Amino acid sequence: MSERRVETAAVGAALHAFVAELFPICRSITGDGVRATLAAIARRVPALPLIVHEVPSGTPVFDWTVPREWNVRDAWIANAGGERVVDLARSNLHLVGYSVPVDAHLTLAELKPRLHTLPDHPDWIPFRTTYYDEDWGFCLSERQLQSLPDGTYAVRIDSTLAPGSLTYGEALIPATEPDAGEVLLSCHVCHPSLANDNLAGIAVATELAARLAARPRRRYAYRFLFIPGTIGSITWLARNEATVAHIRHGLVLTCLGDRGRPTYKRSRRGDAEIDRVAAHVLATMGGAHRIVPFEPWGYDERQYCSPAFDLPVGCLMRTPYGQFPEYHSSADDLAFVDPAALAESLGLAAGIVDGLEANRVYRRRDPRAEPQLGRRGLWDPVGGKTRTTNDLAMLWVLNLCDGRHTLLDVAERAGLPLPTLAAAAERLVTHGLLDEVGA
Ligand code: ZN
Repeated sequence: MSERRVETAAVGAALHAFVAELFPICRSITGDGVRATLAAIARRVPALPLIVHEVPSGTPVFDWTVPREWNVRDAWIANAGGERVVDLARSNLHLVGYSVPVDAHLTLAELKPRLHTLPDHPDWIPFRTTYYDEDWGFCLSERQLQSLPDGTYAVRIDSTLAPGSLTYGEALIPATEPDAGEVLLSCHVCHPSLANDNLAGIAVATELAARLAARPRRRYAYRFLFIPGTIGSITWLARNEATVAHIRHGLVLTCLGDRGRPTYKRSRRGDAEIDRVAAHVLATMGGAHRIVPFEPWGYDERQYCSPAFDLPVGCLMRTPYGQFPEYHSSADDLAFVDPAALAESLGLAAGIVDGLEANRVYRRRDPRAEPQLGRRGLWDPVGGKTRTTNDLAMLWVLNLCDGRHTLLDVAERAGLPLPTLAAAAERLVTHGLLDEVGA
């Protein structure tokens, strides 16, 4: 294997190991599972300035209210012989999330309306929740349901739904340049043992945060949010209406570990800088990929892109939510998440960030004709040869960097990768031929 491939394999293995570490935790939109997940992120990246916020139950957040906190210790269904036929201890998907406490005996017929299965995938356990409706239920495989004999079953749910708080994590990695604003990176942390849908996004976001925190230079500040889906982003927006003004670009990171091709979902604006940068990076870095338009469905981009905010926030994923059969089921497990896909997703997210950092505006110091590059050592003096990509990048920068075009404009027009043009621009700045506008 080449050195680069060995490195990619190591990155993928490390990301997958973090997914595996987080996998057993019983998460929901509130409760100790979210806290344990945030603690694991903090342990993994000690340099990350992660703040854990606790927002009290009952706090109004726009049209919503922070719900009561839910925690569960034990939940099971036992047959007449006392054998636990369905047990939270075996899979935390077995219990419908936010189930209220129960201690009862029911016949199978009485129990059945509360049992959820996936008849099309008879060996999988579905993931179901009842966040905003006081209820309870269990999830199991269709095959197991069919095997349950009639009779009376003992049902026990040892949960609490009580005033507490909604927990989310936030880390702001500061910029090293003034006044450029912030990039928002957001992922949800509210699903239990589901590997692609939530843990892959968390693992990629955590590693991206570690890398950004370790950089000596950052044009933008980077605000990472590790939040419960929907209610978490609504809560954050309600508490941060003033912060929103600083956000220049944003990405929701989700479903980044399956073997499908990468997908970028555009922001509500459709043509924001993040949308153009992401499309350019996927076209120049990745192989097969897809770019899809905004729709008011999916993850927290729905809230960031609500009309009052209309933030330039897109969503990076692989196979979109709901479009892989394993979605919201026990088949979204550790085997479903591929280390190579995780590593590629991290590379794409980092590439988009690099693109945002590089997309500056430059102006020729003296825009009359071409400068003589040979005498500056920027040009192979032997004429008549085919010019390299770097040579062409330099010519494109010298031609289009007139103070009006961004480097992304140049990249799109030249059909060259943004990093190649950024390197050319840097060389020309060093040689006094180019200046960054506003720097
Ligand atoms: Zn989900």
